[in-house]
Amino acid sequence: MNHRSRGKHIAILFLIVGALFASSRLLAAERMTYAQAKAGIPERKLPDFWFGDVAGLTGRLERLTRGEARIIAISPGGRSMHLITYGPRESVESKANFNSAIGAREPKAYMDKAARKRPVIFFVGPVHGHEVEALTGLVNFIHVMETGKDLRGRSQTRLRELGDRCRLLIIPEGNPDGIARFEPRALQGMGRDDLRFWGQGTWSDDTLCGWPGAKRLHPMTGPEAGFPGCYFNDAGINPMHDEYFAPMGPEAPAILKVAREEGPDLAVSFHSHESTPAILRPAFVTTEVQEDIRTLAQEYYALLAKRNLPHARPFTVRGEGGKNPSPFNLTSALYHISGARPFTFECPHGIQGNCQVTLEQILDIQLTLYEAMLQHELDKKK
Ligand SMILES: [Zn+2]
Repeated sequence: MNHRSRGKHIAILFLIVGALFASSRLLAAERMTYAQAKAGIPERKLPDFWFGDVAGLTGRLERLTRGEARIIAISPGGRSMHLITYGPRESVESKANFNSAIGAREPKAYMDKAARKRPVIFFVGPVHGHEVEALTGLVNFIHVMETGKDLRGRSQTRLRELGDRCRLLIIPEGNPDGIARFEPRALQGMGRDDLRFWGQGTWSDDTLCGWPGAKRLHPMTGPEAGFPGCYFNDAGINPMHDEYFAPMGPEAPAILKVAREEGPDLAVSFHSHESTPAILRPAFVTTEVQEDIRTLAQEYYALLAKRNLPHARPFTVRGEGGKNPSPFNLTSALYHISGARPFTFECPHGIQGNCQVTLEQILDIQLTLYEAMLQHELDKKK
């Protein structure tokens, strides 16, 4: 071995050692044990307006004076799922289910929605238990409808006035088991791997499942599954991807039953992510429905901008297809069972990174969305 070739070998050796070191670091970052996840929860007292748990929710919801509360499902873990309604229900004749009425070219055969004086708006709270931003938002919204103020004590007169002119259907907790499993109670200020641990969970070797890998096994049970992320109920079902034609869990069917019976005009499935507030393109609905939701997105983003809050850009209306087509999910199902114009909303968690909003800003992002939704529907009744 001459001097030059020895130098080359040493350089290669350094490269190999460096690569091994880097990959072991990468592997370390891809794993998280339950003990490590627990140790990562900051010690803090969350503000009183924040709701990151279903404990205590039943008592609060049973004390309503203006709204009506009822239990619509019991989760596999024995927890209640509630429906809160505001505003009278207007009875309209229904002669056929939605898809038959569409087949008849008579949507009115399902429900004459235009004949109703009040828009019917359906708020489907988090079906992913760690996405408690909407749980906080909806409990505050209920408080606004009860008292005119949010839980910070801030007057929300306009939101209540708009709400009083609609029929509101509110499910604060779309997956009570998942919410109960979410020990941090807020991801705000925490890291990306904390989100992955509590959100999608781990495989049995403590590797983080991540998104969208966590959808590869469903139900999330058996020897491959580790810590079940808050995506799942206690039976390992992710209600966003239940089997709608042969349901596996009680949550999604209960949500869809409300939609079928009430025929909402507009419906939202609440979620959260790392980035700016975003109204997603609803998949497997007509382009007309997509256009309407896109208009709502523009109105909402304009309102957020006015309030110095971050926002995404409106989605592009398009047909289905491509290499990775969109799934037919809970949002799609809401349209096909009730004709509701449905959408998925993604709220920022406020984790470290590109959209680190505060807990207060998260509440404002939520309340602003409700206002935009109510206004959007009321404008159609003019
Ligand atoms: Zn989600």
